[in-house]
Amino acid sequence: MSPEEYLAPYAAHSEGGIGRRHAETAHASRSQFQRDRDRIIHSSAFRRLEYKTQVFLNHEGDLFRTRLTHSLEVAQIGRSLARNLRLNEDLVEAISLAHDLGHTPFGHVGQDVLNECMRDYGGFEHNLQSLRVVDELEEHYGAYDGLNLMFETREGILKHCSLNNARLLGPVAQRFLDRTQPSLEAQLTNLADEIAYNSHDIDDGLRSGLISIEQLEQVDFFARLWRDVQQAFPGLSGRRAIYETLRRLITALADDLIATSGSRIADAAPKNIEDVRKAPPLIRFSDGMRKDATELKRFLHANLYRHYKVNRMRVKASRIVRELFDAFMNDPVLLPPDYQDKPGDVHKQARKIADYIAGMTDRYAIREHRRLFSLDEL
Ligand code: MG
Repeated sequence: MSPEEYLAPYAAHSEGGIGRRHAETAHASRSQFQRDRDRIIHSSAFRRLEYKTQVFLNHEGDLFRTRLTHSLEVAQIGRSLARNLRLNEDLVEAISLAHDLGHTPFGHVGQDVLNECMRDYGGFEHNLQSLRVVDELEEHYGAYDGLNLMFETREGILKHCSLNNARLLGPVAQRFLDRTQPSLEAQLTNLADEIAYNSHDIDDGLRSGLISIEQLEQVDFFARLWRDVQQAFPGLSGRRAIYETLRRLITALADDLIATSGSRIADAAPKNIEDVRKAPPLIRFSDGMRKDATELKRFLHANLYRHYKVNRMRVKASRIVRELFDAFMNDPVLLPPDYQDKPGDVHKQARKIADYIAGMTDRYAIREHRRLFSLDEL
């Protein structure tokens, strides 16, 4: 039996899809999307995720999420959602594991600063960079650059895109110009990402002591789940109470997404992936759950992502990224030879510097900064 026989007709199927930029013969024992997932796991960019910040700097504590464990949690949640909706789990897994490959060191601040540095040279956007990693930067094959992934995996990685960039990118970004949708698997992974970070950022926030249960109880959604736990286990506190609450949070979000999306799919009755592309977004939370999830996001934004201790990290990190960029732009001879461009094309040189910095792990960026600016270290 083919591994894709259980799929709904509107799921993304390995065969009959848009396929790869460079044609390849089918593999005897793995579907196309299984191959994509395997290529992503074996990439260098994937291994770097272990040392890249999610919210907390990688070396602040061993238990905090990194980009790697975040990506694994997205894949886990995404796969179980996909199986319930008879969508392609392998594609969801591939997109999940690749979705943050283009992230800079130090989380979102790294991207924002690099984008400012690159303002005159085409900007920098981590989604686009994830696509660039799998399309161009990975060096694994004799015949071409990148990993030669399936179209469906690449369009899932490209979650957002400006119209300007869409015009430059070609077919993979055409949907932003046409205002059509990507596969249901891509839509689903996007929301699996949101479920994962909403829940693990609460966990990491509590663990770090930057937010408290008392504060979280102001969020209606969290308060309801916390009360459920207290009813089931009177007096329960500490780690167990937190995990019991977060389990319920993930389950509530996942169950709502499955039920809401299932009925939207039934109403739209897409016959195949082409119908999905033309329909409005079909993978959604209910209105009530969207409201709850947004309230939680707002809470995390105000109380965790903008906490003064996180702000200190952010300001320091932005200084490191900016100083690295400026130093390399002023003196490209400081760059490793692979990243030096022939003198003359400042745009190309800037892009290579952005690639170099974006590829750095947190600790590599800190070390590189020290190597360039500290007189004690040569
Ligand atoms: Mg993510």
